[in-house]
Amino acid sequence: MKKTLLIFILLLARHACFAYPLPHPFPPFRIAGNLYYVGTDDLTSYLIVTPKGNILINSELEANVPMIKSSIEKLGFKFSDTKILLISHAHFDHAAGSHLIKQQTNSKYMVMDADASDVESGGRTNFNYAHDPSTYFPKTIVDKILHDGDRIELGGTTLIAHLTAGHTPGCTSWEIRLKDHGKQYKAIIIGSLSVNPGYQLIHNKTYPNILHDYQHAIKVLKALHGDIFLASHAGMFDLQKKYTLLNKTKSNPFIDPQAYEKYIAKQEVMFNRELAKQAL
Ligand SMILES: [Zn+2]
Repeated sequence: MKKTLLIFILLLARHACFAYPLPHPFPPFRIAGNLYYVGTDDLTSYLIVTPKGNILINSELEANVPMIKSSIEKLGFKFSDTKILLISHAHFDHAAGSHLIKQQTNSKYMVMDADASDVESGGRTNFNYAHDPSTYFPKTIVDKILHDGDRIELGGTTLIAHLTAGHTPGCTSWEIRLKDHGKQYKAIIIGSLSVNPGYQLIHNKTYPNILHDYQHAIKVLKALHGDIFLASHAGMFDLQKKYTLLNKTKSNPFIDPQAYEKYIAKQEVMFNRELAKQAL
């Protein structure tokens, strides 16, 4: 009994991002323009559909890959048309399914430079979790290394990779330029600004630049002023609530620049609070 309790406490103490129940499917839908939601109820995946093939962002867990595939097919698209695979950051809940997706689609896997070794080692080189085998995921070869500000163009759609590091050294926020009902929008998929339990912001030997990177990420995300606010976890941008409002309100609930600004401001306050705590 005591042992079970201890295991339970240890599980609770783990990275919030890692300790979630089994994934549940979520109805796939069009967010705006050629951008679609194909993720589950917590871990997000996005599909950008173009005449030259599709771009998939976030592979989630291995167990989620059949759900992502089925969501893409329900929308009337082909999983095999996935030409480019991207991730928010190299944690297993966003990148573990990549090797399966590569096998099933022949897509090119493009990863931000500073996250590439974590992806190729399956989390074994991670600055914080290298000694925790429960965070490891299948090693996956990166086909193209990305750098801050790189543009990915496919079939008339442009994506920009913004390095918003800290959560991982290569944590990426994606900017997607899209058109919806004749208007131009900037969708931002926030990588993550969360400071996980156990992250040392000061004197971090395995990630000396962590503090500077988080502060830079907040600055970059503030300056981006996203019109369409999305992120790597559904709870960050109220997916459930916004989905229920879709088609019920005149305006698209996902086009919400105020919610984007509010979220960054809230994350900044939380970050500074954590930093002050650690500086004591
Ligand atoms: Zn994470």
